[in-house]
Amino acid sequence: MTDEALRMAAARARAAELMPYLATALFACTPVRSERVPTIAVDERWRFYWNPAWCGRLSVPELAGGWLHEVGHLLREHLDRFTELGEPSAKAPLFNVAGDAVINADLVEHGVTLPPGAVHIGQIPGAERTMGAEQIYRLLSEPPATPQAAGLSPSEATGDCGSGVTPGRRPWDLGPAGATEAERGLDADRADQIRRQVAGEIRALGTAPAGLRRWAEEILESRVDWRAELNAVVRRKAAEVAGVRDYTYSRPSRRTVPGVILPAMRQPRPPVVYAIVDTSGSMDRQRLTRCLSEIDGIVQRTGRLRTPVQVVSCDTVTGDLHPVRSVDDVVLTGGGGTDLRPAVATVARARPRADLVVVLTDGDTPWAPVPPRENRTARYVAVLVAGDRLTVPGWFTKIVVP
Ligand SMILES: [Zn+2]
Repeated sequence: MTDEALRMAAARARAAELMPYLATALFACTPVRSERVPTIAVDERWRFYWNPAWCGRLSVPELAGGWLHEVGHLLREHLDRFTELGEPSAKAPLFNVAGDAVINADLVEHGVTLPPGAVHIGQIPGAERTMGAEQIYRLLSEPPATPQAAGLSPSEATGDCGSGVTPGRRPWDLGPAGATEAERGLDADRADQIRRQVAGEIRALGTAPAGLRRWAEEILESRVDWRAELNAVVRRKAAEVAGVRDYTYSRPSRRTVPGVILPAMRQPRPPVVYAIVDTSGSMDRQRLTRCLSEIDGIVQRTGRLRTPVQVVSCDTVTGDLHPVRSVDDVVLTGGGGTDLRPAVATVARARPRADLVVVLTDGDTPWAPVPPRENRTARYVAVLVAGDRLTVPGWFTKIVVP
């Protein structure tokens, strides 16, 4: 190992000492020395690119701060969260800055030394310690939209923490072909396992800064992997948009094309989510509480979006749809027998049109044999809170909560 690589290893060990609950995540990263990366950056396979000249100018404690910072982006899933916002990629640097501010607030609170030029939350007017990256991003994107105008110097604002934080391949990224076995990095499933493990360690130790503790509780609260469910919808929508783009390419109007044809680049719209809660008599208090935790899990993933999740509670009579931003907004009604079919039909007709419909139930209801005519393209997910003994038709993705 070179002296440079030894210093990086020492810095990672120091980082793990400072925040032992992040050790699993720190050591899951693959360090990659690169002259092409200007400073340090991560990609979505948890490869940690480091520039030897830039890192050589930093002290080991500052480098340890750099490790903790980049791992913070990966744990908090900033890449997926920016993608879910459906914002133009030109605004990605602002989201990087917002993520930096959130991560560094935790690190500063914990007494961690940061590399020079690090973004501090106090530099962003209106930003508060309890805000998530999306809220700070909104503050930065509101006019005046430039980070300079928001009080950040250009050098800080253009800091790029890599393709693990905002979309787009970087010049230093190792492709699947260029990577050796040791440099292959993590896949998405392994990354999720590490997030859950780290969240468990944060909860068990109880000494992490407030932001990380909030993050860990979000991860541990819901048992269903809503991230995977929502990502499946987001990916499908992105593919649909790509299809529209190809279609535009294939039909240029002969009369109006003297030169280059530029297809309309449409941004994928963030997914619209509806949840239906069974509030019939067979749903006891424990089951309802379980449902609310799962709704909380959905809200955590979608509350950041412009279209909040809509929740309808029902037994045989369908209640009104109302937007929900937290569990406190959920009004449970009913208590009689169960027939969820009218609720599913109501949601299928609702506007904005549903991309994902989640039904939370003990399954003790009749089901329609086919998806509602009004919306056959949505993804329908049934979350069963009382075991899997009950039959759910094949047009639902079935998730059993023990
Ligand atoms: Zn960063």
